[in-house]
Amino acid sequence: MNNIRLRFAPSPTGFLHIGNLRTALFGYLIAQNLGGKFILRIEDTDQKREVNDAVDKLLNVLSWVGIDFDEGPHRGGPFAPYTQTERLDIYQKYIQELLDKDLAYHCFCSAERLEEMREKQTANKLAPRYDRACRDLTREEVEKRIAQGEKYVIRQKMPLTGEIKVYDELRGEISFQASDLEDHVLIKSDGVPTYQFANIVDDHLMEITHVTRGDEWLPSYPKNILLYQAFGWTPPKFIHFPLILNQTGGKLSKRQGDVFVEDYQAKGYLPEALINFCVLLGWHSKDGKEIYSLKELLTAFDIKGLGSSPAIFDSEKLDFFNGYYIRQKTLTELADLCRPYLSDISVDQTYLEKVVGLAQDRMKKLSDINELTDFIFAEKLDYDSSLLIWKALTAEEVKSNLSELKGIMEKVEDINWNKTYLEAQIIEYIKTNDKKVGDYLWPLRVALTGLKNSPGPFEVADTLGKEQSLNRIELALSKK
Ligand code: GLU
Repeated sequence: MNNIRLRFAPSPTGFLHIGNLRTALFGYLIAQNLGGKFILRIEDTDQKREVNDAVDKLLNVLSWVGIDFDEGPHRGGPFAPYTQTERLDIYQKYIQELLDKDLAYHCFCSAERLEEMREKQTANKLAPRYDRACRDLTREEVEKRIAQGEKYVIRQKMPLTGEIKVYDELRGEISFQASDLEDHVLIKSDGVPTYQFANIVDDHLMEITHVTRGDEWLPSYPKNILLYQAFGWTPPKFIHFPLILNQTGGKLSKRQGDVFVEDYQAKGYLPEALINFCVLLGWHSKDGKEIYSLKELLTAFDIKGLGSSPAIFDSEKLDFFNGYYIRQKTLTELADLCRPYLSDISVDQTYLEKVVGLAQDRMKKLSDINELTDFIFAEKLDYDSSLLIWKALTAEEVKSNLSELKGIMEKVEDINWNKTYLEAQIIEYIKTNDKKVGDYLWPLRVALTGLKNSPGPFEVADTLGKEQSLNRIELALSKK
């Protein structure tokens, strides 16, 4: 085992954004690819509100998709604890080091003053940014104000001029102007560090060698690097994964559809589909192959396939993958997966397997099972008799065709009541009598399903059983 260590460092909110799933997935795969360790660290110091069991929920959804960690709050490890709010004592020493080096400073500005300052800046068309009012307070004044009990935050002292050059493994060198950087807060007024500070201290202490995260963290990168420099630490390698955009080129947002993995899970997207879909958001294989299981990715994934241009979130593609993986399931597996979505979850297993068999080819997600098979469970079908008419047939001809079929079907013994036998009997009858297949099968299918589009009549009759099928044909015959 080498000393390569990657971490996934989410701020748990109770839901996992699809972009964060991709970050976790890429991190996991790169760690595997490099033969290193994958670590989960919970960055919960910036949380405005306490989200109960957010970490448990996060772990559940990650384990549902099959992503696991070598170290983390649930696994323990040599650098425990892995949750930042359990590490608060650790950060004190490091902020003191920055204060001593004069690379950080106390700021006593009140929330009101900051608000007023921002309003003025906005009115003057300036980007709202801390005006550094406390940057040059004397040590005596700082001590006096602390002694008087004034509240303060601690800010990072940014260079005022010059360029900060950073290196991203996918993009190469990127330059930022120091003058664009704010003296941002490292320690909040309650003594708790911000993400920006705790993240760096922990990456260093946990001996992280590669930081893998989304592109939205690129603006933080120069600030991160300045902190490494301030401490005299060697930074890890950084890989920022490309942005994920919606199909109109905008930011993925809740308004245009689901953005949380849990939403997809609830609707009946399979973990295999989400993984396959996510891995292609910024990565491609050498040979252009697109269908990948997580297991296959463990060997096929290669950092060289990562790109830096934005990835487009195409929900039709996700549906395609989901449909594909639904069709890979055995009927027993699919019945088990669909059961929670049914209005009557106590349906007999063998029967349910037949029912899902009818829907498997058309399903895009598990929750489709209801809509696709409602007609099977319906007590009495409700449809207009005109639907029974095929092409130029008259209502009388339709009824006569249905009666003929009823006659044949009545004679089929229970033991032979299956798709293949029914099909053989009926098709033979149609052929021998030199009739047209559509003239018989359309009315039969409608009589059995009440639908314009549905699975074929023989599979439906097989699933419904003899009694139900004949009742439904009877109903069709009695329609005005
Ligand atoms: N805590 C950050 C987040 O919520 C992690 C950023 C990073 O990976 O450095 O995503």
